[in-house]
Amino acid sequence: MKLTPTSDIWMDGKFIPWDQAQVHVLTPSLHYGWGVYEGIRAYPTERGPAVFRLREHLQRLHDSARVYMMDPGHSVDELTEACLELLRRTGLESGYLRPLVYLEYGTMGVAPRLDSARVAIAAWPWGSYLGEKAEQEGCRLMVSSWQRNGVHAVPPLAKATGAYVNSALAKVAAIRAGYDDALMLTPGGHVAEASAANVFAVRDGVITTPPVSDNILPGITRDTVITLARDLGHEVREQSLTRSELYVADEAFLTGTAAEIVPIASVDDRPVTGAGSGPVTQRLRQAFQDVVHGRDADPHGWLTHL
Ligand code: PMP
Repeated sequence: MKLTPTSDIWMDGKFIPWDQAQVHVLTPSLHYGWGVYEGIRAYPTERGPAVFRLREHLQRLHDSARVYMMDPGHSVDELTEACLELLRRTGLESGYLRPLVYLEYGTMGVAPRLDSARVAIAAWPWGSYLGEKAEQEGCRLMVSSWQRNGVHAVPPLAKATGAYVNSALAKVAAIRAGYDDALMLTPGGHVAEASAANVFAVRDGVITTPPVSDNILPGITRDTVITLARDLGHEVREQSLTRSELYVADEAFLTGTAAEIVPIASVDDRPVTGAGSGPVTQRLRQAFQDVVHGRDADPHGWLTHL
């Protein structure tokens, strides 16, 4: 997806013109992937732009930084204000926010100096992640031969830059094979997640999604969907899934900040929902869109208005 530049990028407390927001090519984060980041969406509402679950995303950024022993040097409150001010300056009505914690250049080696963390936040317009066709008709997934990063290798619950070569290997292979995205499994053969989205299956009205122990990133959209589904009276289980359970699901869908809620049309060419999404997926997509656009009361306090 091509980047559309905006006016400013926030770096360590200052707003820098987009083109001048640069780091040294010898930053260890580029060489060894030691960095953590977030992806956050802002939506237009009747009261102007609002950021969805901003605090939870910035808390997860801090948690990821903790796993990688970096101190972002800015509290969740300070980063919240930085994100809001960045949106005001860029004039975006809706879009995507990308906070990044990385290491300053100055040392080299596989054990980088960890007391040099820097923070940057960029914002840009971002439309449909998997494309309009996948959103309307459902996405086609392929089970990847690449296993999802495991707890003994690269911690799945931290959103680390280097960890994404795992997702990227799987996604590139899936796209080259003619699919929209990869479905990644654990070493034990449980469904983990897609390259950048969590997975849900619906069977006989019961909604199931893999537990955190199956090597997933605990998605904030996943949590949102679990909450909305329970609010709507659905039974939701956080329980391991095999690929065949997805083959025989009545409905299945992906969730993520970039992806939002996308129906799954097929897994390994076995149609899940046929064309378009089934009734449970439809209801959840509607509820999600109503919440993020502020059309519903916000009982969980998920929106931060500018
Ligand atoms: N899994 C992975 C690997 C991801 O990159 C993402 C996107 N952040 C998700 C799941 C979904 O998480 P969230 O709903 O918090 O965006």
